[in-house]
Amino acid sequence: MTVKLYAFTCGIITGPRGHMMVGEVGDITFPVPAYLIEHPKGRALFDTGLHPGLRSQPEKRFGARRAAMFRIDLPPGAEISARLAAIGRDPDAIDLIISSHLHFDHVGGNALVPNATLVVQRREWAAGMEPDAAEKRAFFAVDYDLGHKLRLVDGEHDVFGDGSVVCLPTHGHTPGHQSLKVRLDGGDVVLAADSCYFCQTLRERRLPVMVHDREQFLASLDKLEALERAGARLFFGHDPEFWKTVPQAPAVIV
Ligand SMILES: [Zn+2]
Repeated sequence: MTVKLYAFTCGIITGPRGHMMVGEVGDITFPVPAYLIEHPKGRALFDTGLHPGLRSQPEKRFGARRAAMFRIDLPPGAEISARLAAIGRDPDAIDLIISSHLHFDHVGGNALVPNATLVVQRREWAAGMEPDAAEKRAFFAVDYDLGHKLRLVDGEHDVFGDGSVVCLPTHGHTPGHQSLKVRLDGGDVVLAADSCYFCQTLRERRLPVMVHDREQFLASLDKLEALERAGARLFFGHDPEFWKTVPQAPAVIV
């Protein structure tokens, strides 16, 4: 069964490097990825990038503190709905949005994909629905509490039932973060999302400042490393150098 994987950089963000990796100085500009997976049984996105409202009123969408810390660059046409339309895919005909987690740069485009069922770890959704916890974790319900149908999953989840697209729990960055393993003709790839921002995060165990659970985060990195040793290619969540090597849609990742 052939699965096709496409990558999109849906805007870029500039912010303090030390926020992303403890001990660093200066600023870093990093990509905001989203992916389309086409399976004979349906079309799924893995994350949806940024909401277009961040262009003009970032403080309204993710708070004044973060708006002061991060500069958003989302050119017209870079949002997920436009990227899909540009390759002839109708955003209204996407079946699933698989969310790695509920941060603004991963679920911001959910509003642009209205008919999809949201596939999210139950514990992540529970944290997102608890107003105090959500605020503390920088979850903004305006991004994800939009009435999408929900498929809440616990731990590993075989999305299409044939082992080709599998959610892998990689908690730690947030309570219920998940990565996605996709079986391509060229071998397995693992879309790490924010369980691993950069290649350096993995190689040097250099964690971000904001971590929900440090032990779980480190265990998730061990899991990613084991998958890599077994032959999988890892796609790092926000690594600008790595992303220069990723072909953008309409190119298919092989
Ligand atoms: Zn995140």
